[in-house]
Amino acid sequence: MLAIAAREMGYRVHVYSSEVHSPAGAVSDHEFVGSYDDADLVTAFARTVDVLTFEFENVDAACAAAAEAVTIVRPAGRVLHITQNRIREKTFLRDAGIPVTPFRPVSSLSDLAGFPYPAVLKTAAFGYDGKGQQKVTSEAPAREAFLALPAQPLILEEFIPFRREVSVVAGRNEGGEFFHFGVIENAHANHILDVSRGPVAMDGAPVEIARRVFEALDAVGVMCVEFFETVAGEFLVNEIAPRTHNSGHLTIEACNISQFELQLRMVCGLPAPRPEYLLGAGAMANLLGDQWQPGEPHWSAALATGAKLHLYGKHEPRPGRKMGHLTAIGQTPDEAAAIVVEARRRLTV
Ligand code: AMP
Repeated sequence: MLAIAAREMGYRVHVYSSEVHSPAGAVSDHEFVGSYDDADLVTAFARTVDVLTFEFENVDAACAAAAEAVTIVRPAGRVLHITQNRIREKTFLRDAGIPVTPFRPVSSLSDLAGFPYPAVLKTAAFGYDGKGQQKVTSEAPAREAFLALPAQPLILEEFIPFRREVSVVAGRNEGGEFFHFGVIENAHANHILDVSRGPVAMDGAPVEIARRVFEALDAVGVMCVEFFETVAGEFLVNEIAPRTHNSGHLTIEACNISQFELQLRMVCGLPAPRPEYLLGAGAMANLLGDQWQPGEPHWSAALATGAKLHLYGKHEPRPGRKMGHLTAIGQTPDEAAAIVVEARRRLTV
């Protein structure tokens, strides 16, 4: 989607991916295939571009540094390094005075004692969509979970009985100007984002906290700050995605500028308008591989609701794999969400 936004503005796009025929590769001028820790190949790739950005944060820090030696990298490798590890990320945010879920780094069984359970035990790195994490009600199940998880640094977080989850997708340019799409509400199913709707607010605490996160990191580009809204009405940062985010996909149809075009403009040093919602609101429902299990989804039935369809061109519809999404616009977030939920229901009826 970023490549498509770039092509619209006449840019040539080079993609570096670990897989051959990646969805981005299909809409780009050149596809480099290599691992995300091959510094030589990443350097060769970086030499071919004027500016390099990410849509995936698990790129080796040494590779980002190698790229920075030969081209402009936005957000900087330092931002990637902090945000790709939950312990580094939460420590950085806490030290910057930003409210985060209470946490403790865990490297041995003794670190599990005396924590305010219930909690969630997570791998510190390479986790996404709920992979590598487990809710634990007390120390005994935490010990079991510890032994079952791969031997790598872990983080124990207080379980937050949140009222809801929200995110702020925003961008910042080199001059420190901040652009945002307001507060988007996110519902998850099996730890995977299911439906996003927004804006549930265009300002307020989450937007201000997101602004402080960008400033503390001195980030240039688009990032997403994800929050838990507690029952007391506090906003705690759960994590930062240093890239365009699934909860911002609805901006393609709903706004005067999409998160992808904003990302492009931020990393290319171009001016951008203040993001606004054209009709008032938008919503997005993810399409996972599960949707294909009963057979080819009924696309016509879904499109008849007025929803827009995005498919990423992934070859295998594996259960739990994000294959595409549906979006709709409306006067309110709930009105838009009702359309995408109905459109998705029709796919398998
Ligand atoms: P994460 O990979 O940290 O984004 O976690 C995926 C999802 O698991 C979140 O969006 C929440 O729905 C849930 N979750 C993760 N951590 C916590 C927590 N500390 N308290 C409550 N729910 C959590």
